[in-house]
Amino acid sequence: MRVAELGAVRSPLTIAERPVPEPGPDEILVKVTACGMCYSEVSLLDGHYPFARFPVVPGHEITGVVAALGPGVDFPAVGTAVGAQFLYASDGTCDYCVRGDQILCPHKQVTGVAVDGGYGEYFVGRAGFVTPLPAGLDPVAGAPLMCAGITAFNGLRQAGARAGSRVAVIGAGGVGAMAVRFAVAMGARVAVLGRSADGGNRAKDLGAEFFVATSETDPAGALRAWDGGADVIVNGAPSTAAAAAAFGGLAPDGTLVLLGYGPEPLTLPTMPMVLGRLHVMANPSGSPHDLRDTLAFAASHGILPDVTPVGLDQAPGILASMAAGTARGRSVIVLDQAS
Ligand SMILES: [Zn+2]
Ligand SMILES: [Zn+2]
Repeated sequence: MRVAELGAVRSPLTIAERPVPEPGPDEILVKVTACGMCYSEVSLLDGHYPFARFPVVPGHEITGVVAALGPGVDFPAVGTAVGAQFLYASDGTCDYCVRGDQILCPHKQVTGVAVDGGYGEYFVGRAGFVTPLPAGLDPVAGAPLMCAGITAFNGLRQAGARAGSRVAVIGAGGVGAMAVRFAVAMGARVAVLGRSADGGNRAKDLGAEFFVATSETDPAGALRAWDGGADVIVNGAPSTAAAAAAFGGLAPDGTLVLLGYGPEPLTLPTMPMVLGRLHVMANPSGSPHDLRDTLAFAASHGILPDVTPVGLDQAPGILASMAAGTARGRSVIVLDQAS
């Protein structure tokens, strides 16, 4: 099979031939249909994952079809359309796993970082973590639901967003656009904060009530003028400073949730945080039940990411442009196209 692999930190992605793997006990062989290219792959490339193992096949926005089941595995049946995400597996025995919060497991493994992911024709996943797709879900456009989608959906619910909440989303790119769509479909009121005024039309198209160009207008003031502030601010931008600039726009008891972030620390004023009983949190992807909920909600509301299908041979160049900050939109590797 053909794969795109990373041999080491800060090395280019290379196309390689490997034998098709055999699924072992507890494992599922998936013939990959598509794999989204996530910005975590840039973190992997830059050496920000101390638990990475090289060479590794990156990719954790995987859709495909079950090709074979390992000994002792009987679900999902061969031929089932499935997805696999950032969380590859967990120990199954710690307090978090027992509570169904596997994403917090101290012994979790990450797809495409510690084990091979979906930038290749086949992927071996773990039983209980490979999830059937809802009927009719487009496996190419739907691939980013496995990371950007679950992160946005789960971030909103972890932060307490519900029908009628005022939700401000910073950045309407990949994960931010998903957060806007999910929040609108949940019945929340949504504002979008973006750097330049040309994001306004897109924000309205996604269903936002209004748009704030933060290069022209103080985002905190604009949010406070919105019936007293945002109940939830979702940072979908890869910038900690953008989150800090909007923080003063939270309503009392409001929550800032980081989905995007930069390398710099988050510095916030403490007195308003205490007086307003404000909350700050982040959200890393989610557990298997969160993925099922994300996929079911996306399918029933017709929510799909905007993607650009590409071939496996294009992946090295695209990852390099993502690392250089010149890539636009969400590229999804379509495996049939590449072989
Ligand atoms: Zn990701
Ligand atoms: Zn665990």
